[in-house]
Amino acid sequence: MSQDPAPDTAPRALVVLSGGQDSTTCLYWALDRFGAGRVEALSFDYGQRHRIELDCAARIAALADVPHVVLPINTFGALGGSALTEKAIPVRAGLEANRLPNTFVPGRNLIFLSFAAAHAYRRGITELVTGVAQTDYSGYPDCRLATIEALQQAIRLGMEAEITIHTPLMFKSKAETVHMAQALGALPALAWSHTCYNGVQPPCGECPACRLRAQGFAEAGIADPLIERLRGAGTDRHA
Ligand code: ZN
Repeated sequence: MSQDPAPDTAPRALVVLSGGQDSTTCLYWALDRFGAGRVEALSFDYGQRHRIELDCAARIAALADVPHVVLPINTFGALGGSALTEKAIPVRAGLEANRLPNTFVPGRNLIFLSFAAAHAYRRGITELVTGVAQTDYSGYPDCRLATIEALQQAIRLGMEAEITIHTPLMFKSKAETVHMAQALGALPALAWSHTCYNGVQPPCGECPACRLRAQGFAEAGIADPLIERLRGAGTDRHA
């Protein structure tokens, strides 16, 4: 009589992958924490102005050798009002009257994580990983720990599933995140990540997101692999 192998009960993780620096670092954190073959990635097509984000996410997932799904949720564009979803609204530095930057998309992380939890539920996955950080200069309220903890509780109640939301970057500075990426071996993948709010490649270097990224790498004393890659591609095709 043949014996079935022991059931594989180790937890599996789903990473919300935007194609940016933080979520890319989180993907490698999840691989380190949960193991190769136990991590999947999910991106959202929410009508963002910069389609390059989704290309970057796909490329990074392929580099990390993890399955990648893109879910379409186009409602944010219909809601309007954010510089990240409307071409007519330029990205502005500084804060608006609501004390938030005009790149704020109300409810974005609440929706993303709820859909991610639903996707995870269907896939038998209990661990969600997101790159939100309370230390983020922009201070988006749906990136704060209190919001994430409340959302986790709502998901657990609403889905009757012991889903845990991991936020490995929650209290890290950008420089600390860069060091973490280096330790996790994520720098080659960061060479394909996208940060620029203006959606251009090479990055504009002027928008708040570009400045924050550059500052983080400078403080960490590590060259940004994206800039290095683009520089190499431009000057030495044999590199
Ligand atoms: Zn930029």
